[in-house]
Amino acid sequence: MKNKNRNNTSQKKRWTKIIALPAQMMRFIWELITEKLEFSIRFRLSLSYIRILLGAMITAGIGVIVIFGALTIYDRTSQDYIALSQALNNDNIEFSDVRKYSEEYKTPVLIYDYDEKLIFATEPDLAVYGYKRSIGIIRTDENFYVAVNRTQLDSGFPNKVVIYTDIKDDIQKIIIISKVVLLVFGVVLFFSIISIAFSGRGLFQPIKDMTQTVKDISERNLNLRLNVSGSKNELKELALTFNEMMNRIEDYYNRQKQFVSDASHELRTPIAVVQGYADMLDRWGKNDKEILQESIDAIKNESENMKELIDKLLFLARHDKDTFVFQKEEFSLSEMLLEIAKETQIIDSSHKIKIDVHEEVPIYADRNRIKQAVRILIDNAIKYTPSNGEIIISLENEVNDIALSIRDTGIGMTKEELRHIFDRFYRSDQSRTKDGGGHGLGLAIAKIIILGHNGMIRVKSKVGEGSEFIIFLRKN
Ligand code: ADP
Repeated sequence: MKNKNRNNTSQKKRWTKIIALPAQMMRFIWELITEKLEFSIRFRLSLSYIRILLGAMITAGIGVIVIFGALTIYDRTSQDYIALSQALNNDNIEFSDVRKYSEEYKTPVLIYDYDEKLIFATEPDLAVYGYKRSIGIIRTDENFYVAVNRTQLDSGFPNKVVIYTDIKDDIQKIIIISKVVLLVFGVVLFFSIISIAFSGRGLFQPIKDMTQTVKDISERNLNLRLNVSGSKNELKELALTFNEMMNRIEDYYNRQKQFVSDASHELRTPIAVVQGYADMLDRWGKNDKEILQESIDAIKNESENMKELIDKLLFLARHDKDTFVFQKEEFSLSEMLLEIAKETQIIDSSHKIKIDVHEEVPIYADRNRIKQAVRILIDNAIKYTPSNGEIIISLENEVNDIALSIRDTGIGMTKEELRHIFDRFYRSDQSRTKDGGGHGLGLAIAKIIILGHNGMIRVKSKVGEGSEFIIFLRKN
């Protein structure tokens, strides 16, 4: 008994393995295809579509065949039952009538008593397959029967009746239908594969074009952009975003190029001056005290100038690289302004410096940087204001903010000049020709410092009347 059970379970296992084999094979082949070979997105998409289509078709095909088969067999067994029911459907089954109908319709009938003991059989050989409680399938050498126990369905029978319907012909029909379904689905699948394979072509062309354009972009043609006219939806969005990014990169690249060229240009002049004096000293100045002194003064002056320029360049470079940090602390802004005014007066006595600061104003900021910014504005006011002109420094103290103004009575600026004064290396034509003009970096640096403190700079100016730079800063 135990052995029989074990045999049954091992047989079941074997069958499950055999049934699962095609699915495992398919999965293995699929994994091999996707893993070992690197396919394009189009190919992968097509493969997924084909897989879905194949799955749908197999399900539909099996469904059609099963439903058709079940309906045919149900129909056949019903027909046999209806034909035989006349002989069966009364209190006393007429075995002669049963035999007559059974032979006429080639439908064996086996009748059992209520103890399931065979009492009548049109084909006694079938009894060896046992009593069928509801439905059973019996395969003999020549026939393929579906045995239906009609007793449960029609409890009016005095005995238990099992009707055997031969479905050999129906099986043949089902096989033919299966072949037709297979053929039709095969043809549909073939054409679907072809159309799926070709459908992706146009879809991926914009991606190919984009890839080509991106490949063509180099530092020499940073102005190349993706074509957004044809692409749609997500691709258009991607192309627009990429183009915007390229605009920023190109702009940044051009500004850097301009910066490097301006910086080298600015450095060339002092180096040329130093070189000129060194040559002069070499030729004639060794024994000429006057030339010696002049050269030393000029070289000192130019190297100071160069140092200043390099400091400014380093400041800007650090800011651009984002490695710049403000060292904030609490200090008195009013005190700092008085200190700057004093220092300025010592250096420059040709201008009247007025300071309109009456109360103590503490502020939380980077003292050295704020001083640097204010110095830049005061130095400019001095540079661009003729002798005897006035420079007025005033401080307005609000609850949370301050407004620091540096006003001069100098040459002033045109509207066009005002638009550019914060650009790196910008100098108005007038200041370019002027002696002692800077490098055009002062205001760019002042702006970085003030914006870095979340502040603002506002400029008012009129040609010939003077200018006013107002710095707005939060106190903390
Ligand atoms: P620079 O070192 O040349 O002064 P800045 O960046 O400080 O460079 O200033 C840029 C330009 O702005 C100057 O060349 C000058 O033309 C103009 N400018 C700045 N401040 C004043 C001012 N107070 N009055 C008139 N023009 C000014």
